[in-house]
Amino acid sequence: MNISDWTLEPRLRRFVLEDYQGPVARWCPSCGNHAILLALQRLCLSAQLAPEKTVVVSGIGCSSRLPHHMNTYGFHSLHGRALPIACGIRARRPDLHIFVITGDGDCCAIGAGHWLNALRLNMKMTVLLLDNGVYGLTKKQTSPTSPKGFHSNTHPSGAPLSALNPLATAISVTNASFVAQCADWIPDHLFATLKRAHVHEGLSFIRIRQRCPHFMGDFWDDYVKDPQKQCLLSDPAGVEIGEEIKKIYPNQLAHDPRNLGAAIELALQNEPLALGLLYLNVGAESYDSYAHRGLICSTQEKLTALNREFDKFSV
Ligand code: SF4
Repeated sequence: MNISDWTLEPRLRRFVLEDYQGPVARWCPSCGNHAILLALQRLCLSAQLAPEKTVVVSGIGCSSRLPHHMNTYGFHSLHGRALPIACGIRARRPDLHIFVITGDGDCCAIGAGHWLNALRLNMKMTVLLLDNGVYGLTKKQTSPTSPKGFHSNTHPSGAPLSALNPLATAISVTNASFVAQCADWIPDHLFATLKRAHVHEGLSFIRIRQRCPHFMGDFWDDYVKDPQKQCLLSDPAGVEIGEEIKKIYPNQLAHDPRNLGAAIELALQNEPLALGLLYLNVGAESYDSYAHRGLICSTQEKLTALNREFDKFSV
C-alpha cells in the first residue's frame, strides 16, 4: 500500500468557485470573516485544490464556524484544539491541503500551548489567525489581543493590560518559519498572502486583522479610510503586491523577511500597520520528516514490525 491508496483517483477536473462554497455564512453583516472566507475559497479555486483533498480545521469562536461554509472536509473541533488536530491530520495524511482557522481567544489564550508547539513542529499547513481582538461568540469579553483600555463585559472599566502581540510571539518560537500579517479590508492583498502562505514548505502563520463591527464598533475605521496607516512589505520572497493595490497603498517598504531583528520591529509596529511577509526561515526543521516515517509501508510490513515489538517481551 502506498499513500495514493488513501486518495480518490485524481481526474482531470476543472473546479469553479461554487465547488468550494458551503451553506451561506451567518456572521453579522460587515463582519470581516466574510472577506476571509471568500479569500480562502478564491485560493482553493486559484490552486485548483480538489475539495476532497482539502480540510479546514477550526476551534471555537465566531471565526471557527468557517469550515461549515466550505464545501471541503472540515473539523469544527474544541476550544483551542484546532492545531493538535491539524498536526495529527498532517502526520497521517500528508496528501491533504490543511487550513487551520483560529481566533485570538482560541489561539492565544486557551490554545496558546498548542499554538507555540505547532509553530515549533513546523508541519506543513496554513494557519489563519482571525484576530478581531474580542471574544465575539460569547458576547464581548476581553481577549488576549484586546487593546488596553477596551471596555468589555469582563472589564467594564477597560482592559487593564497591554495586548499580547501574536506576530512577535510567533516569530520568537524556535523553528517558526513563516509569519505574515494582512487585513480583511484589503481583500486582494489578503488573497495574495494566503496564496504565498499555501506554497510555503512548513507551517505558515498569518495574523489577519479582522473587523468585528458588532462588538468593536468603528475601531478599524481610520485604517480602512486612510491607506497611509498601512505599510505594505515587499520582497521577491514575500507577498506579491498587485498593481492596483500599489496605487491605492503607496506606503510600501522593502523588507527582507529573513532579517529576524527587522521582522520583530515590524511586528511591534502599530502604525503604520505592517502588512505582508514579516518573517521567513526557509531552513527551519520540520516534524514532518519524522511523523511520516513508516507511512509508506505495506500491511505485512506493519504487522511484522508490530510482532517484532511484541516478541521483545517473550520469555
Ligand atoms: Fe463577526 Fe463580531 Fe458578529 Fe462575531 S460578533 S460574527 S466576529 S461581527
